[in-house]
Amino acid sequence: MTPERYPRLPTDTDDGLLLVISGPSGVGKTTITRAVERSIPDSVFSVSATTRAKTDADVEGVDYHFKTECQFDAMVAGDEFLEWAGVFGKRYGTPRAWVQEQLQRGRLVILEIDVEGAKQVKRAMAEAFGVFIVPPSEEELLRRLRDRKREDESLIEKRFAEARREIEEANRCDAYDAFIVNDDLERAIQDAVNAVRDERARRRVARGAARREAGDA
Ligand code: 5GP
Repeated sequence: MTPERYPRLPTDTDDGLLLVISGPSGVGKTTITRAVERSIPDSVFSVSATTRAKTDADVEGVDYHFKTECQFDAMVAGDEFLEWAGVFGKRYGTPRAWVQEQLQRGRLVILEIDVEGAKQVKRAMAEAFGVFIVPPSEEELLRRLRDRKREDESLIEKRFAEARREIEEANRCDAYDAFIVNDDLERAIQDAVNAVRDERARRRVARGAARREAGDA
């Protein structure tokens, strides 16, 4: 038997919540996502499969499961993804079975995925809770993309145009329940943690009321 890799099971297994976090590149969503994961004890981060090349900063199995195009095709054909989408010419997908197992254990399951993927998740699981991280302004986002010094100017402009398109689409679609402005990182992290705690508390109250009603009937 494989050893238990995750924290102790919570007692209320109805407490499982699928948290979807999205936002344009450069907005700080990975930092916020990982901080939410550290702040909420029963949370687990869903490691996506991707066909993009592994960089020196990536750890296999921690940041992504790196796959060849062929391996990814087989996973799509086997219906292994809760959602998958093409982002910047590469494919990224969320492992369905793992997510479902963690939700059944009552955990907070965190997906950091793009808007296309978030829309698919919301269609498949209406009870998913979507959070979109927005920059304080377009000028600030452009400055942050340049400050990362990861890409040359033409790629930065491509990412910036894509970011504007994503923000518009996030506003238009119904995949997101909360929008958090990242003008101050610590505050944005706290806002995200509070949004999740409030939502779980709200659902607990609703479940309790539904149970009482069923008992009264
Ligand atoms: P990066 O390659 O910079 O880590 O991620 C690029 C983009 O892909 C980010 O917007 C990230 O949120 C998105 N992404 C990562 N994993 C998934 C996934 O499993 N599904 C979808 N739809 N998008 C993902």
